[in-house]
Amino acid sequence: MHHGIKKLLLLGAGHAHVHVLAQLARHRPADLDVTVLSPYPFQTYSGMTPGFVAGHYSAAECQIPLEPLVRAAGARWVQGRCTGIDAAAGTVQVAAAGGARDVPSELRCDLLSIDTGAVIDRVRLEAEMPGAADRALIVRPIEAFAALWPQVVAMAGDQPVSIAVVGAGAAGLELLFAAEQRLRNEGHAARFTLITGGGEVAANYTQGVQRRVLRQLKRRNITVLREACVGVEAGAVRLASGATLACDVPILAIGTHAPPWLQGSGLALSESGHVLVNAFQQSTSHPAVFAAGDVATRADAPHAKSGVYAVRAGPPLAANLLAAHEGQPLKPHHPPANTLNLLSCGAGHAIASYGPLHAEGGWAWRWKDRIDRAFMARYTLPAA
Ligand SMILES: Cc1cc2nc3c(=O)[nH]c(=O)nc-3n(C[C@H](O)[C@H](O)[C@H](O)COP(=O)(O)OP(=O)(O)OC[C@H]3O[C@@H](n4cnc5c(N)ncnc54)[C@H](O)[C@@H]3O)c2cc1C
Repeated sequence: MHHGIKKLLLLGAGHAHVHVLAQLARHRPADLDVTVLSPYPFQTYSGMTPGFVAGHYSAAECQIPLEPLVRAAGARWVQGRCTGIDAAAGTVQVAAAGGARDVPSELRCDLLSIDTGAVIDRVRLEAEMPGAADRALIVRPIEAFAALWPQVVAMAGDQPVSIAVVGAGAAGLELLFAAEQRLRNEGHAARFTLITGGGEVAANYTQGVQRRVLRQLKRRNITVLREACVGVEAGAVRLASGATLACDVPILAIGTHAPPWLQGSGLALSESGHVLVNAFQQSTSHPAVFAAGDVATRADAPHAKSGVYAVRAGPPLAANLLAAHEGQPLKPHHPPANTLNLLSCGAGHAIASYGPLHAEGGWAWRWKDRIDRAFMARYTLPAA
């Protein structure tokens, strides 16, 4: 039994936390005070962002408004970013965001849940790829990327542009196909290059999927360079071979990092700096701290970091936060070994894969569109 009001602090409004808020809207114990710390008044759904780049969705269609969800959950929203955690003391350091005023510099909690996603650490990026932090269009944070993309479209309307996407994983490929489709549909002259980092295109997929992706790239006359980008300068990217590729817009969709502010938190972290959690999505070092999504790594069963896994962690995370509050036993979450991957090649066509199986067509894209819109509808509540 516990006595008095307990404070639950949700860091970030990521894919798992929107579900936690929806669950709290259905049932919030009267003795649980809930605060959400997040920098934007909405949660961007990355799965639909390539569709926004392609011109198929508006920005608003890719955003879950936070205010109605927070209100329904009886929670409080603080517009800011976490800049540090002291897990032992149960405190979180806060920097205001979006021009918000009266934001406390520190928040205190009894239970902490972290779903802030992954980042591109600008300091590490600058060391590995000098010039990139200032000159490249970086896909994280995705809100900043989405805000800048219309400027690229406008630039392409004035002059022929050369665009290089650095990173040949799912995010880089989907953005590349979407950008190519958008500029082609609008009749703009543009040249596209994919810089893989030295490895194969779609390296995390089976060879069958890789062949399908390569066919789609060829069909669109997209040049593939199996090279690493080692620097970005005005109007060009530098490659590991010593060559320079002229490029007006370098788009960086490289692998992500753990947030640097986790260092010094006292939390047990994986080798890559992510919050180490057990089968209950609970910190392996601090039982009052939970984490899910790209910011966390399962110590017992590490899995890929993707939106699908972040979404799947939402219901068990919500149940375990409430159980921890009530002092009830926690339930393990078993992430699936395989997930359905739908890789869009511009709006209207997608490559579907599940384990060793793969296929593609307009049907796969319509399937993805239905899944994505259903996710948005589930968490988009009417405004007050
Ligand atoms: C273009 C693109 C397309 C993608 N498409 C897919 C796809 O189709 N399928 C798929 O499975 N995966 C996809 N991914 C990967 C997917 O985006 C991530 O795996 C997913 O977003 C992880 O969810 P999350 O909840 O961990 O974090 P996020 O979705 O990143 O949410 C993090 C939240 O925390 C907030 N936040 C960030 N920093 C702080 C801070 N310091 N303090 C407080 N709040 C903070 C953010 O504003 C946000 O609200 C794609 C990624 C990209 C870039």
